[in-house]
Amino acid sequence: MPAGDGGLSRRTAAWSIGGLTRGPHRPDEEDDNLNRRRGFRSGRGIGSLLVAAGLTVFLATAGWMAMNSGRPIAPTVTPAPPTPLATLPTAGTTSSPTLTPWPTIASLTAPPPPSYPLVNSCNPTSVRGATPVPPPPARVKAGAFALQVPILMYHRIVPIAEAGDSLRGLVVPPATFAAQLDALSSAGWHTITLATLANDVQAHVKPEARTFVITIDDGWDDGYKYALPILGKHGFVATYFVIAGRIDHPGFLSSIQLQALVASGDEIGDHTMDHIGLARLASSKLTYEIEAGAARIAQVTGRWPESFAYPSGVFDARAVAAVGACQSLRIAVIEESVQPPKPAPSGTPPAAVPVALETWTNRFVVPRIRVSPTTTPAKLLAALEPLKAG
Ligand SMILES: [Zn+2]
Repeated sequence: MPAGDGGLSRRTAAWSIGGLTRGPHRPDEEDDNLNRRRGFRSGRGIGSLLVAAGLTVFLATAGWMAMNSGRPIAPTVTPAPPTPLATLPTAGTTSSPTLTPWPTIASLTAPPPPSYPLVNSCNPTSVRGATPVPPPPARVKAGAFALQVPILMYHRIVPIAEAGDSLRGLVVPPATFAAQLDALSSAGWHTITLATLANDVQAHVKPEARTFVITIDDGWDDGYKYALPILGKHGFVATYFVIAGRIDHPGFLSSIQLQALVASGDEIGDHTMDHIGLARLASSKLTYEIEAGAARIAQVTGRWPESFAYPSGVFDARAVAAVGACQSLRIAVIEESVQPPKPAPSGTPPAAVPVALETWTNRFVVPRIRVSPTTTPAKLLAALEPLKAG
């Protein structure tokens, strides 16, 4: 592995723009948080309501996007039949026949989510009907080539009131997200997916000026409900890193939402099956987390994922090698910049922090830029301006 040597280790950098005050990222804090969230919303009746609400949002969003965005709406994505919310219990021997009993939570039903057989393999033939990753655009050329396309890292795009106990530093309200993207769009910035960036790195193609990438981690359904319409307003695309084992779970993106995202030009990336730190995992578990996750995404979307994100940014040389061994994966991102600023000797300026660097050698440990809820549009623009050449 070009990038896999003993020098790779778990990163705990806490660099960010926007004055995020949280300390180094505890490796399992996202996972703890997600598990708490799952427990909080695990009621089947509540899940039914969410399914129905999600369907409504899907239909409304599709119509909205058709009117407001140049991005195509998937002609092949057919919403599920309406959830039978109006299944009322029999009135029985009520003494007031003119009153219709209000449906209880227990009486609400929803179609079961699709079930997928476990496929623990990145072999393209292991998922029938899924499109293998197309051949790279060109052979890797000799010689050094480096890009500095900024890759923004988001987690949740959701109102605080709906964020439960998610870490506040990971929750960007939709209005804030919209203001950030409005500013970037007005300044001439435009997006590509991480897979397209991988193509460019491989083919030594320099994207046009002011190109950037948006990534949204963990596969919450607010990425569809709130982020997608805002992205669509500007014709922006994003790479969504989903936890494959949570697809179709309450609060997370559903199969049909993921299919719609793909149809509208977004990319679905692999964020493992269970969102556990990959450093020092047993080989079989390491392979399972990466490959079963990739295969599940192929089952759901019909496309093998090309991009990978290490849960909580935790990795070691074995994890990097295991990602590289999955045939479809061509680029992987860590959490944020490679190293925090270090105190400089007196009289010398502090060393520059590499916030964006994409090369063939580091293609499986590519840094990202964390965007926090306190990142003002002006701060975001200022951070990206030095990277406008890509
Ligand atoms: Zn994550």
